[in-house]
Amino acid sequence: MLIGVPTETLPGETRVAATPETVGRLVALGHDVVVQAGAGESASFPDESYVAAGAAVGTREQVWAADVVVRVDAPTVEEVELLRPGALLASQLSPGQRPELLASLAERSVTALALDAVPRISRAQSLDVLSSMTNIGGYRAVVEAAYEYGSVFTGQVTAAGTVPPATVFVLGAGVAGLAAVGTAASLGAVVRASDIRPEVGEQVESLGAEFVPVGVSGGGADGYARELGEDLQARAMEVYARECADADIVITTALIPGRPAPVLLTAETVARMRPGSVVVDMAARNGGNCELTRPGEVTTTSNGVRIVGYTDLPARLPTQASQLYGTNVANLLALLTPGRDGTLVLDLDDEVQRGMTVAHGGRVTWPPPPVSVT
Ligand code: NAD
Repeated sequence: MLIGVPTETLPGETRVAATPETVGRLVALGHDVVVQAGAGESASFPDESYVAAGAAVGTREQVWAADVVVRVDAPTVEEVELLRPGALLASQLSPGQRPELLASLAERSVTALALDAVPRISRAQSLDVLSSMTNIGGYRAVVEAAYEYGSVFTGQVTAAGTVPPATVFVLGAGVAGLAAVGTAASLGAVVRASDIRPEVGEQVESLGAEFVPVGVSGGGADGYARELGEDLQARAMEVYARECADADIVITTALIPGRPAPVLLTAETVARMRPGSVVVDMAARNGGNCELTRPGEVTTTSNGVRIVGYTDLPARLPTQASQLYGTNVANLLALLTPGRDGTLVLDLDDEVQRGMTVAHGGRVTWPPPPVSVT
């Protein structure tokens, strides 16, 4: 099959869905690859590096007319029209939020696989772009915090005086939160973290941080958080307000699958933070965990707290993010090419493949039937 790798067109996007290394893997599966000229430039992968890995370099029309098109961000209306009927598209598609996009892909008879809808089961972890991207986002959140913060993270004893370590509070200890905890601890900060799933306490502690229990338990049987009732939420928010008042850096990552992000830091909480302290709201794209967050912006409150609302944290590490995303894509193609002979086989009896197939055979196939959690 011919796999096309178009240039990303979402403003601010720097990633690419295949790197020279992952192109090598696709070629080894028996596929041909065509990369749009310049597609890897913003991730530091020049065209020549793709050619050396066995790909051809082509035009926009050539890559979108391929049998399989791999992308980071969902295609525009115009790009959908460039897809060949019968083609397979693998991309992030936000299927829960984009019914009109799914309808247009089905109408075009495209088989669409949503990389952001991979079932969160152990067997599917190697395809899971949500995990690989939030992991790298958690790292970058700490880097952004360090940039905005006017002091060092690690404590220092120097001839010019003693500097205490920064105190970092991480709210939500899932994939992103644990990445932030590990990064902040490795920079020498004193790190504390909370989550309404008390079972993550051990993981927080294994990274050298202290787990701050909130005294409520909001985990569902599937391992994900549920929305808390008003009373429980208020109790948890008291703990967060106290932690924020003592922290130099607060990194918030709390999400509830399928729901807007819970607002956990009020304006009053931020008003009690020290001047010069920093909040990085990793939930900004989903509405934000902090009442004052402005998605995509850095703002400063009247009491001198910097609030970072970037929604593109993985794209701020384009080379590594593309490498991880491209590996997820290559793992998907390996699953779809069982004979390693360039022939695609989509097995809709496999819960992983079915779970991420959002359009097929001229029909929208989202949402999929529920899968068993393993
Ligand atoms: P997520 O992005 O949906 O949420 C982030 C974190 O916010 C979660 O830890 C959640 O408990 C927390 N949270 C929600 N509301 C909160 C509140 N009011 N106060 C404090 N914290 C709150 O979660 P995620 O990072 O995608 O992962 C959730 C779980 O799923 C983890 O245990 C993770 O290891 C697991 N997981 C499994 C797989 C897999 O098996 N393929 C893949 C990814 C994640």
